[in-house]
Amino acid sequence: MAHTENILDRIANQGIVLGDGGYLIELERRGWVDSGSGREKVGTGKGSGQFTPEVAIEHPDALRELHREFLNAGSQVLQALTFFGTREKLNRAGYGPQTETINAAAVRLAREVAGRQALVAGSVSRTQLFEREGPSAAGHVRDLIAEQVRILADAKVDFLILETFFHLQEMLIAIGCARATGLPIVATMTFRPRLTECSDGHSPSDCARSMIGAGADVVGANCEQEPERLLTIIREMRKAVTLPIAAQPAAFRTNESIPCFTRLPQFPDELESLQLPRTSFEHFAQQARTEGIQFLGGCCGCNAAYLQAFARGLSASSERAQRHVG
Ligand SMILES: [Zn+2]
Repeated sequence: MAHTENILDRIANQGIVLGDGGYLIELERRGWVDSGSGREKVGTGKGSGQFTPEVAIEHPDALRELHREFLNAGSQVLQALTFFGTREKLNRAGYGPQTETINAAAVRLAREVAGRQALVAGSVSRTQLFEREGPSAAGHVRDLIAEQVRILADAKVDFLILETFFHLQEMLIAIGCARATGLPIVATMTFRPRLTECSDGHSPSDCARSMIGAGADVVGANCEQEPERLLTIIREMRKAVTLPIAAQPAAFRTNESIPCFTRLPQFPDELESLQLPRTSFEHFAQQARTEGIQFLGGCCGCNAAYLQAFARGLSASSERAQRHVG
């Protein structure tokens, strides 16, 4: 079951590794994930904030199918759907007592589909407690993430992806917890509401350096922005550090004054009107090598069609590179 080649070897050997796409938004659109919309104003920090991953136990076939689609499209990594899977977040959605069951089931499903074709990553996200309670939540956050990371390691993920953190302080706590497992760590910050600094005021380059200083093996940015806007963040990180860079853009169009889709009025019920054409993902993949990106995946709004576009873009750029050598 275990792969001899870990994610870091794979990056070193291939130059660039293709990840997968976004699960929660896609499964919400297919009717299997609860956005919380209709009951509460999602994203205000007042309600449950929903978008929790209980689909892993409630509708496992739906999740299995999306994993299959990503694998078929060329994903070399499948992320277990454990995003928003800490006990406190699941509790708000009424699934707290099933925290271990949901996390373990998500890893099992990803592994079942991945077989020997893809690596399996455990996904760990922000808890939302820094947004709700501020830095005083730090101790509680550490306990919650430590618990989830232990469950994921026990379920035998190949590595961890810490993603969609708005506060660097919370990310550094997560990296600390993840280090205890000894697994490789991919750590990606999310920039909201500005591109120039994260929610607790650190620039992309400072975030990249701090994440590496704390023990991350691959650093980068994910979610909230379309490829073009995310690239401004990625370039800054690339200049600041030498370790591999990860980029996982969203497939939604943002704008100059609100460069993050979850702050736009279309979130979550009118996201279709912001959907980007998949060709923009193909173009991004064509640029990825020259931009120094070594882990490329998609975040919210990115389904298998976008992964296929990524795969096309990557193979076009590798043919171009070979022609130059030849
Ligand atoms: Zn996302």
